[in-house]
Amino acid sequence: MNSRRDFLQKIGVSALALHLAPLAGWANNTTNNEKTYDGKVLRVAIMGLGSYGTRVAEAMQSCTKAKLVGVISGTPSKVKAWQSKYGIPEKNCYNYENFDNIKNNPDIDAVYVITPNGLHHDQVIRVAKAGKHAISEKPMSVNAQQGQEMVDACKKAGVKLLVGYRMHFEPKTLEVIRMRQAGEFGKIMFFQGQCGFTIGDPTQWRLNKQLAGGGAMMDIGIYAINGSRYMTGEEPIWVTAQETKTDHEKFKEGVDETIQFQFGFPSGAVASCLSTYNMNNLDRFFLDGDKGFAELQPSTGYGPIQGRTHKGELTQPITTHQTVQMDEFAGIIFDNKKPVVPVDGEEAVKDLKIIDAIYQAVKTGKKVDIKLS
Ligand code: NDP
Repeated sequence: MNSRRDFLQKIGVSALALHLAPLAGWANNTTNNEKTYDGKVLRVAIMGLGSYGTRVAEAMQSCTKAKLVGVISGTPSKVKAWQSKYGIPEKNCYNYENFDNIKNNPDIDAVYVITPNGLHHDQVIRVAKAGKHAISEKPMSVNAQQGQEMVDACKKAGVKLLVGYRMHFEPKTLEVIRMRQAGEFGKIMFFQGQCGFTIGDPTQWRLNKQLAGGGAMMDIGIYAINGSRYMTGEEPIWVTAQETKTDHEKFKEGVDETIQFQFGFPSGAVASCLSTYNMNNLDRFFLDGDKGFAELQPSTGYGPIQGRTHKGELTQPITTHQTVQMDEFAGIIFDNKKPVVPVDGEEAVKDLKIIDAIYQAVKTGKKVDIKLS
C-alpha cells in the first residue's frame, strides 16, 4: 500500500537490494574498518516502525558504529516482532505517551524519528528534552519556523540534531561534488532535478495535509531542492513556481500534486525542477557547466545510483545508503566529524525555508526572494 515503496519497486530497487546487502560494508571499509573498530557505538532507538523504519533497521544490522537498541511505537504487535528480530530488551521499548522516560535510560544515545512529517517537530523536541541526540527523517518538519524551533530546542538541550539525508554519503553523488569542486565542469550554468512517482492509496498520511505538511514537495520534491544545492554548491536566491493539479479529490487543498519550480543562484546559474505525485520514471539530476556535465539517474532512489559525466560512466561503489548514513552519524555525534555536505538541523531549515518560498511563489504567482541566512 505504500506508494513510495511501490515506486521504488517499480524501478527495481527491491530485487537489487538483495544483491546489495553484501556490499553494505563498502563504506564501513573505507570510513571505519569493520573488523578493527573498537570505538564508541551509537545506540539508537527507532521511533515509528513503518516502511522506512523497517528499512533503516535492516540496514543497521550491517553497521559497525551504530546499533539498533530500542523502539518507540504505537503498535504493540510490531514492538514484539522487532524485539524478537533484533534482540531488543523490554526496558528499551516505549510508546508515544511514555517515551519522555527515555531520559532515565542510559543505554540509548539517540532517537531516530521516522514518523509522518507533521509529527517530527513535537517528537524531536521531546527527544531533545529527554537529553538524547535526535535524528529526524526528511522533511525535518513542515515549515521553517518549526524547523528552527527544533534546532533551538536541541541546542538548548545540548544534543545533536541530524537529518536522514542519505544521499550526502552516496559515492557517485560525492564524486560529482568532488569534480565540481575541482572545477572539472567549469562554471556551473544549470541544474535540473526531476523527482516524482505516482502515489497510490488516497487515504495514506502522505495525502493528509496535517500529517504530511503538504504533498509531493514535502516528500519527494525536497530531493530536487536539496540536490540543487549540493550539486551546484550554491544557495538559491530566488524562486518561481507553478502548480498543476489534475485530481482535486485525491490532492486536497494544501496537498500539492505537481509543482515545477525554478531557482536563480548568485553566480547566475539557474535550476529547473519538477516535483510530482502523478508521474513515474522521474529520478534524475543533471548538472551542466561550461566545461562538462554530470547526470545521475537514478539520482536519489535507494540504489544503485547510476551516473555519467562528460568523462564517462561513474564507477564508484554501490552502497546501502542507510548503513553508511548511520555509521557516519556515529562519527558526527561522537567525534564531531564534518560530512562533505551537512546533515544537521540548520541544513534542513534551509530546505524548509526554500519549501516555504516555493509555496509562496505558487500562491502569489510571483518571483520570491530566498534568504537562507
Ligand atoms: P509509514 O507510514 O510506512 O510509517 C510511519 C510510521 O509512523 C507508522 O508505521 C507508525 O509506526 C508511525 N506513526 C505514528 N503516528 C502515526 C500516524 N498518525 N499515522 C501514521 N503513522 C504513524 O511511513 P514511512 O516510513 O514511509 O515514512 C516515515 C518518514 O520517513 C517520513 O517522514 C518520510 O518522509 C520519511 N522517509 C524517508 C525516506 C528516505 O529515503 N530518507 C524514505 C521513506 C520515508 P508505529 O506503528 O510503530 O507507531
